[in-house]
Amino acid sequence: MNDVPVIADLAAMSAWSEAARGQGERIALVPTMGALHAGHLSLLAEGRRRAHRVVLSIFVNPMQFGPQEDLAKYPRDLPGDLTRAASMGCDVAFVPEAASMYGPSFQTAIDVREVSRGLCGECRPGHFVGVATVVCKLFNIVRPHVALFGEKDFQQLAVIRRMGADLNLPVEIVGLPTVREPDGLAMSSRNAYLSPADRQRAGALLAGLSAAKALAEKGERRASVLLDAATTEIARRVDRIDYLEVRASDDLKPLQIIDRPAVMLVAAFVGGTRLIDNLRLG
Ligand code: AMP
Repeated sequence: MNDVPVIADLAAMSAWSEAARGQGERIALVPTMGALHAGHLSLLAEGRRRAHRVVLSIFVNPMQFGPQEDLAKYPRDLPGDLTRAASMGCDVAFVPEAASMYGPSFQTAIDVREVSRGLCGECRPGHFVGVATVVCKLFNIVRPHVALFGEKDFQQLAVIRRMGADLNLPVEIVGLPTVREPDGLAMSSRNAYLSPADRQRAGALLAGLSAAKALAEKGERRASVLLDAATTEIARRVDRIDYLEVRASDDLKPLQIIDRPAVMLVAAFVGGTRLIDNLRLG
């Protein structure tokens, strides 16, 4: 099987999409930063089911990284990504250069105000402005009918859904469940940073979330009790918890009592690696 063809040029990408649309084809877009794993591939597979054409974008977006973050060392594997994407029936990889996405005069930013605050938005100032802006740009360049995102990045998905609704973007946003390693660790390109010992300790995140979920399923409705249960599991094995919170699953409002669909979200450092995960509490 041939690798997926690459388009780097923005105008060429738009022309490709125009041609497909002209033939009445539906286009699915899966935006990623590359280093594809089974989580990304599940999005491509669902795109395949929902559209005639599947576009994978690979762009390590400088605008969503803080000055102290891992932009320079973020894992990159374009040849491997193109082979993996081909195996999922992906039609084209859009791999733009940062300089063509952000020209010297670039000055526009999209701030999805409330949903971006707190959680990762607090620990990573400016992160979701970078995410929302680049996703909006990708939508305008690729003009997909449907775009697929993972619930692994739960707040990101909520930000993109809000942006899509607020700005009347003509794109259906689809969220898909987190794909996990056999031991339950949420798949992430950043897992490659973990030493074998840290990889073991990383299991604490899902262990904590699962302990809380089990209590919620027994009828516990107090967020503080659920958080205590999760903290006990997580704090003794990770180096630092960035946040651990219970939020409403739709608008991410903080909840004291679980009286509507809720999700527990965590970010924690294991060694030098920051990991995130979340679990719906039912
Ligand atoms: P990234 O390359 O990390 O920016 O992720 C690109 C897309 O893949 C985002 O929509 C993520 O939410 C999604 N994704 C990342 N990890 C997973 C996973 N373990 N399961 C499902 N989707 C994922």
